[in-house]
Amino acid sequence: MAWPRTRFQLLLAGVTAWSRFPAAPGALARLQARRLRALLDYAFRHSACYRDAMTARRLRPDDFRAPEDLGKLPVLEKSAVRERAADLLSDEFSFADCPRRSTHGTTGEPLGIPTLPLERWLDSVLWARVYPDAGFRPWQRQAKIALPSRIPTRRYLAQRLGLFRRTHVAATEPVAEKIRALRAARPQALVCWASTLDEITAELERADTVLDIPLVFSTSSMLWPVVRERAGRRLGAKVTDIYGSIETGPIAWECEERHGYHVHSDRVIVELLDEAGRPARAGRVVCTVLWRRAFPLIRYALGDLAEWADGPCPCGRPYPLLKALSGRATDLVELPDGSRVSSVTLRAALFGTPGIEQFQLVQETPTRFRLRVVARDAFTADIERSVIDEFRRQYAGALELRVERVPDLHVAPGAKFRPVVLLK
Ligand SMILES: [Zn+2]
Repeated sequence: MAWPRTRFQLLLAGVTAWSRFPAAPGALARLQARRLRALLDYAFRHSACYRDAMTARRLRPDDFRAPEDLGKLPVLEKSAVRERAADLLSDEFSFADCPRRSTHGTTGEPLGIPTLPLERWLDSVLWARVYPDAGFRPWQRQAKIALPSRIPTRRYLAQRLGLFRRTHVAATEPVAEKIRALRAARPQALVCWASTLDEITAELERADTVLDIPLVFSTSSMLWPVVRERAGRRLGAKVTDIYGSIETGPIAWECEERHGYHVHSDRVIVELLDEAGRPARAGRVVCTVLWRRAFPLIRYALGDLAEWADGPCPCGRPYPLLKALSGRATDLVELPDGSRVSSVTLRAALFGTPGIEQFQLVQETPTRFRLRVVARDAFTADIERSVIDEFRRQYAGALELRVERVPDLHVAPGAKFRPVVLLK
């Protein structure tokens, strides 16, 4: 009966998560190597799926000393997580021990990840670590906008002690009701999706009123520059965008100096891979979650696309720096000749185009696209033509684009905004 040891280690990981972030590259690399080794050791001993994968390649846990060594193992696709769940699950635990945490499934079927109650707690500790990093103090009050089904019914011990106190506001409430609830709660920080921040700040603008919420943490969708700017004006807020998921916990959050997203690689190792599975400057996000045990996720393809920045962050923190997060890996556009082209570069160009506040690229037929834009006056006919030219250039003249101006691009509460909507 070995499980109390694993359980003790998870508890220890949560308790010590509050120690200082490693400040030097050497310290970070050592911590990461130690945790990677512990994860591989554990997976080899307890998860048939990884044991088989290592044995088939004549590998032992000793062969993994640095993140680069992860390339010796295959990428774990979502379909494999679904099909091989019983082999992935640690033999120390049963499915009955591990309530499934479901992903939102905004781009397909939701995926249930077996998670021990202690891992769930550890995950919440890791998220709580994000906030003080941006200047939030644990004794200050937060408000969180959440789906009604995800509003917790009981409080953690820390919350009963007056730390990380949280007021929940249901995402399904009308926007005026959300604003009323926020005004009543007077939080120091607001945690919400970028799309909800858009909704709330647009309403404040329409009603020409303000709230005072100095810190905002946004997740799960595109944080448009116009929304960030509006949050500054209408909430007096500094917005920190966080990148994370149910499967991985928090992965990266914005640099204080806005150089990009620091990957907290002492907890989650991120690889970006090209279509052939080679390490790439821009590519699909593959994560190794260093803290999971009951259901280890090693080289897990999260389904997002991202791009590395050049070199280390100018702010001096030792974390790997992502320059851009750019939607889903399924956003590869197929050309008539069968080749597939990532939409990352096009989206990066659109993101910086004058006058475009928000956009969505929608495929109408195999060869025709519609670009829906929320545009300001600065989006002139000349700029529109240059966008169409850029589109043709990106897709080798094989695809057509027309531009449609729309008043807004709102999504349902909890849904991830999809900057690219393809036919398939
Ligand atoms: Zn930085």
